[in-house]
Amino acid sequence: MIGNITVLAGGIGGARFTRGLLHHLSAARPEASVTVVVNTGDDMWLDGLRICPDLDTVMYTLGGGINEEQGWGRPEESRRTSAEIAAYGRGWSWFTLGDLDLATHIVRTDLLRNGSTLSEATEVLCRRWQPGARLLPMSDDPVETYARLAMDADEHRAGDLIHFEEWWVRYRAAVPVTEFVPVGLAAAGPAPGVVDAVEGADLVILPPSNPVVSIGTIVAVPGIAEALRGTSARVVGVSPIIAGAAVRGMADACLSTIGVETSAAAVGLHYGSRKSGGLLDAWLVDETDAAAVPVLEAAGIRSAAVPLWMRDVPSSAAIAAEALAIAAATG
Ligand code: GDP
Ligand code: CA
Repeated sequence: MIGNITVLAGGIGGARFTRGLLHHLSAARPEASVTVVVNTGDDMWLDGLRICPDLDTVMYTLGGGINEEQGWGRPEESRRTSAEIAAYGRGWSWFTLGDLDLATHIVRTDLLRNGSTLSEATEVLCRRWQPGARLLPMSDDPVETYARLAMDADEHRAGDLIHFEEWWVRYRAAVPVTEFVPVGLAAAGPAPGVVDAVEGADLVILPPSNPVVSIGTIVAVPGIAEALRGTSARVVGVSPIIAGAAVRGMADACLSTIGVETSAAAVGLHYGSRKSGGLLDAWLVDETDAAAVPVLEAAGIRSAAVPLWMRDVPSSAAIAAEALAIAAATG
C-alpha cells in the first residue's frame, strides 16, 4: 500500500514529474497523498520582493497556472511593471517578472513582513492554486545559493560570488564557476513537516531535478539526508540526464563544477546506494542509457531503463508509474 508519497523537487523537472505523478495516482491510487518538499536555494530578494522560483514553478504547474513554453511564470502576462522598474535603472533587466507573477511575490512578501513563515505564506498561496499536493519549502530559514566565478564577467571579478539565478539566467551557466556556496544552509533547519514527510512516507521520490542546485541543496539542509537514510520507505530516483545531456537547462555545467560526469550512471552513483550510506534504493535511467543498469546494480542500486522524456502529462505519468513499479520491486 502506497498511501503517502514524498517528492523532493526543484523547479521545472520536479514540477512536471509531480504533475504526471498526480495524474497517474488519480486513476491508479486515488487514496494516495503527495507532499512536495521544494528547493528554496534559488530564492532571492529582488525589487523589494521575496522571489521563490522553484516553489512558484511547482505551484503554478500543479495548479494549472504555468506558462508552459517558459516553464516559469504565468501565461499571457505583460511585462509592463518590469519595464517601469527598468526605466528607473533598478532591478535585474535580465530577470523579468511578469505582471501576474508579481502579484504572487507581493502577497508572499506581505505575509513574510507580517510575521508569517515561508511555510505559512506558501500555504496561503496554495489555497488559491489548489495544487493537489502539499507543498513544503525545504526550509523556512533563508538559504541562497551563490556561484563563485572562475573569471571576470561584466562588473564582476574572478572569485566573486554571484547569486545562482544571476549565473543561470544572465550568464546561461556559460561562465565557469569554481563552486556553489549555499549561504545560510549550515544554520538552516528543515521546515515543519519536512522530516516527518520523509520519515513517515511509504515512498520517497527524487524526480528528475537538478542534482546539484535543486536536490543537492535540499539534501544538504541539516537533518534531511539523515531522514532519507533512516526512512523505512523506499527511495527511488529518476535521472535528469539522458544520453549524457541535461534534457532541458544546464545541469551539466553544475555537475562539472562539482566534478561529477554528466551521465545517468554517474548521477545515480553520486547519490549512492542506501546500502552504503547513500540516498537511493532505486534509480530509473532512460531507455537509451540501458548500459548504466548493470553498473548501478553492481553498486547496490536497483535500476531499470525506461523512457524518461517528459513530453506531456501522459508521458510524465508513465514515468511516475515506473517509479512506483520499481519501488514495489525493490525489497
Ligand atoms: P529548475 O529548478 O527549474 O532548474 O528545475 P529542476 O531542478 O526541477 O529540474 C531541472 C532538470 O530537469 C534539468 O536540469 C534536466 O536535467 C531535467 N529535465 C528537464 N526535463 C526533463 C525530461 O523531460 N526528462 C528528464 N528525465 N529530465 C528532465
Ligand atoms: Ca531552480
